[in-house]
Parts: sequence; structure tokens; C-alpha cells
Amino acid sequence: MSSAGDTESAPRSGGAVLSAITDAPINILIVDDEPKNLTALESLLDSPGYRLVRAESADQALLALVAEEFAVLILDVRMPGMTGFELAQIIKGRKKTSRIPIIFLTAYYSEDQHILEGYGSGAVDYLHKPVNGPVLCSKVAVFAELHRKGREVEISNRALLAEVTERRRAELELKDLNENLDRLVFERTRALEQLQSDLREADRRKDEFIATLAHELRNPLAPVRSAAQILQRQAPADEAQWARDVIVRQIGIMVRLIDDLMDVSRINQGRIELQRERIDLARVLEIALEASRPHMAERGHEVQVSGAEAPLWLDGDPTRLSQIFVNLLTNAAKYTDHGGHIRIEVARDEAEVSVSVADDGIGIPAEELGAVFDMFSQVHSTVSRSQGGLGIGLSLVKHLVGLHGGRVSARSPGPGQGSVFVVSLPLLADQQVPRSVASPATEAAAAESLRILVVDDNVDGAEALLRLLELLGHEVRMVHDGEAAIAAVAEHRPQVMLLDIGLPLMDGYEVCRNVKSQPWGKHLAVVALSGWGDKEAQRRGEAAGFDRHLVKPVDESVLVSTLASLQKRTLPRRAP
Ligand code: ADP
Repeated sequence: MSSAGDTESAPRSGGAVLSAITDAPINILIVDDEPKNLTALESLLDSPGYRLVRAESADQALLALVAEEFAVLILDVRMPGMTGFELAQIIKGRKKTSRIPIIFLTAYYSEDQHILEGYGSGAVDYLHKPVNGPVLCSKVAVFAELHRKGREVEISNRALLAEVTERRRAELELKDLNENLDRLVFERTRALEQLQSDLREADRRKDEFIATLAHELRNPLAPVRSAAQILQRQAPADEAQWARDVIVRQIGIMVRLIDDLMDVSRINQGRIELQRERIDLARVLEIALEASRPHMAERGHEVQVSGAEAPLWLDGDPTRLSQIFVNLLTNAAKYTDHGGHIRIEVARDEAEVSVSVADDGIGIPAEELGAVFDMFSQVHSTVSRSQGGLGIGLSLVKHLVGLHGGRVSARSPGPGQGSVFVVSLPLLADQQVPRSVASPATEAAAAESLRILVVDDNVDGAEALLRLLELLGHEVRMVHDGEAAIAAVAEHRPQVMLLDIGLPLMDGYEVCRNVKSQPWGKHLAVVALSGWGDKEAQRRGEAAGFDRHLVKPVDESVLVSTLASLQKRTLPRRAP
């Protein structure tokens, strides 16, 4: 038997393997007990495309079949020992070799035919001896080609299977990656949400802190202001007068800063509320000019107002509207050198009025113009801070103008060339002049001596207020807690009680409710003194029975006009 030669080698790449298979000679096993018959077959089938393996017995054939793969088996039927048929039966019975096509060489057609049929068709054929060479060659060629194709298909299948497996693996990997990514995104989102909520919480706490800080800062200011105002009323030497003026002016600045701080937290919490009324723009500008004139006078600025002759009626909150222009005018004064010019121009444009506040000061660089209305933004921070600025004023202006349905803009030709701020506000549709408007001055003039009880747990605060009221000509007593207040009202029957809200044990609301329920409560006007001036605080006060609500530190003129208005409206005359 000849050598089995190369068997199938290790897997190679698809195309290379295919061509190696196509080019490799096809194995053909020839089995005959007669060596000369084998030699005859070899010469018949001699071709570079075939590799002929000889077996001279059934045993040799079986060994060869175990060792190699064959495209076709040419088998002599009559062999000593095991016949060709018996061998074929074994071959067909084994899984590995069952599909090898067999060509039997038989001498007797009739005796073998029925046996051949038993093996089925296709894989088994037969030829009569003496063998017809061309017939054998063509049958072998068919089986060889079939084998080659089979191998090709098998290799392709294997490659396909490898590809499918690889694709599946890649899909699984992708799925894993996706799941990882999803998890990462989920964790990241959770972390960001947490961060966002932490930030929101920190921001809320900051707002609360600013509000509390401003509130607490106000408390000590109230007695200082009253004390300074008392000093101012006494006729002093020049030096002392100067010192008192400084105190009053600086306190004014601190009060404004603290008010701004409170407004920041109100803006952030959306708690600024307008107390609207019909108001003439000229009156608003008058109040604003009055408040900011000291700044301008101090720096020798020349102020001009034009276009505000005819009344222009707005529906707005007088305090908040004045605050808008106080801020713009104070800024104009702050950022304009000594001896500069400030011009206010009012122009009506159908249903709207625009007020421009122009100065010839240090101006604003073009790239900063967009940011000046942002909270805490300061272009000239050194100048600004030296004059008590927090970078809040213009953002308040923008917010307040917005609440009034208007808009504000800034322009400047550049540094050193001044700035112009323009506020546009909607006018009331009805521009008729109302019949009469009471002025606070007339109310103030009506004030006369009252019996007043001051209630404040801040002893300095109560004392300062008591002295100021006494200087104003009133008869004043003070107590420092709620129970004492109720007792003092019962005993002395004051006409007015100035009552601090934040008292220990029994707060101002409770004291107010208590005294208002007494028979003498009807003739008593109760004025709240509170660090809080918002609508909610006022509503609570009204519900408890307060007649007026004043925000600490109370300015002397506000105190005077409040007492005057109370006296005019509700209080019975004092017993002589
Ligand atoms: P501040 O308290 O710092 O004055 P504002 O919010 O009122 O804060 O103003 C923001 C910034 O805009 C100021 O710091 C200042 O740099 C600039 N600015 C405002 N008004 C003027 C002006 N009339 N001329 C020049 N710069 C101005």
C-alpha cells in the first residue's frame, strides 16, 4: 500500500484554504487482491489530480480509510477473506466513512445486481470486468469533482460558522459595552442630579442666609439711626454737627445696602410684590432726585431735567419706581467725576414713556455693556466698592422695570465718554388728572402730641425711639415684653402702640390680638415695627389687627407722617 501522504493540515485563512483544497490531489483508494489489477487501475487513472492509494486486502483498505479521507473507493468484489461486499457493508456502517462513494468491479452482472441495489443509489456504482477505461475515468472524475465541491462547501461552512460565531461574540461584547454605558450614564445622571439638588439646596440656603443677615443687620441700625437723628435735632458745635451728619449719611448708605441685600433674596425667591397705584412720573422723579441729590451735591454735579412738565400717569409702586431712578442717579453720580453733568430726559411715545439718565462720567466698555444688569457684576469694581456698591443695583433696576412691564437698556460710546441708561414704562391708558391727592407733608403737619407706648425687647432700640418721639412732642412710655405691654395698655390707655413683632415668649401678633380684644382696644392704634416689609408680613399683621406696618430702621419722616395719618383718621382727641 502506498503512503497516505499529507493529511488535512491546520486551519488556514478562507481563500488560501480553498485554493489549497482545490489544488491538492484527490485521494482515491483502490482495493484488489491482485497487484496486477491494481497496477492496471493505476495506469488507467494516472493523473496529477489524483493520488492513488493501493490496498491488497480488506484489512489494508480499512486501515487506509482510518488514516485518510478518500473521494472514491474502487473495490474488487471477489477477494479472499472478506469480500468486497462485506467490506462495503463495514464502510457504510461506520459514521466516518458511510458517505464514501464505492465503485465495485464485478465480473458477474446478474449475480451482483440485486446486492448493489441494497446499498442505495448515488454513493454506490459498479463496473464489469474487464474494466472499460474511459467509463471508469469519467465516473471517478464525477466523484472526485463531487468530493472537491463537498470540501469547498465544508470549508465555506466552517468559515461562515466562524464568521457567525465572531459576529455573535462581537454582538455580545457590544451588548456588554452598551450595558456598561447605560450603567455609567445612569450613575452619572444620578450623580449630576444629586449635585444639582445639592446646588439648589446650597443656593436656597444662601438666599435664606442673605435674608437673615440683612434682617439681623437692620436691628442694631434702628437705635443708631434714631440716636443720630436725636443728636441732629440738638443745636451743636460745628464739629459735632459734621460728625452727626456723617453718621446719618453713612447709616443712610448702610440702610440702602441692606435694603438691596434683602431685595436680592426677594428677587431670588420671587417675593417682590408691587403695591400699585396711579402715580405721576414727575412725582416719582422728584422723590428719586430728592433721595439722590446729596450724592450729586457732594460731587458738584450739575443736574438737568427735561420733558417732565406735563403729568404722565403710570400704574406702579411709587417706592419701587423711585428706587429704579435712585439707583440710576446714584450710579451716575458715583461713576462721574467731580463737576460732571447728569441729564434726565423724559419722552412720551404713544402708550409708553422713556426716561433716559445720561452722564458724562467714566463710561462703560462695549464688551461689558451686556453684563452690567447681571447680579453682582461690577465693571469698575474699585470705584464701585469704594463708594459702597455690591453690584446689585442695576439687576434690581432691571427686575423692577420688568415687574412694571417695562424695559431698560444701557449704552456708552466707550470708556471716559459717559453712559446712558434708558427706562421705558407703559403709561396708563387713562391720562386724566385725578381730582385731589393728599400729600404726606399735609399729613405730617397735622401731627400733634400723642400718648404712645413703645414695645421693643431691644432696650437701646426702645429707648432711642422713646427719646425721638419725646423730642417730637409726644408723651411716651416703654416696655420690653408682651405681658408688660398688655398691662401698660390697660393702665395708661395709650393712643398709639409701636409694637415690635419679634418679642420673646409672646410675640407682637399675640400682644396685638390681645389688646384689640379689650374694650379700650378700639381706641388704640397699633403700629408694627418689623424687620420684614413684604406683603406676607403685612398680611399677617393686618390679620392680627395692626393698623400700620413700619419696617425697621424707621426713618423719622416716615414715623412723623404715620403718626399724623393715624391721628387724622382714627384716634379720638386726647383728654385734656
Ligand atoms: P454697583 O453697586 O457696583 O454700582 P450696579 O449694579 O449698580 O452695582 O452697577 C453695576 C456696574 O455697572 C457698576 O459696578 C459699574 O461698574 C457699572 N455702572 C453702572 N452705572 C454706571 C454709570 N453710570 N457709568 C459707568 N459705569 C456704570
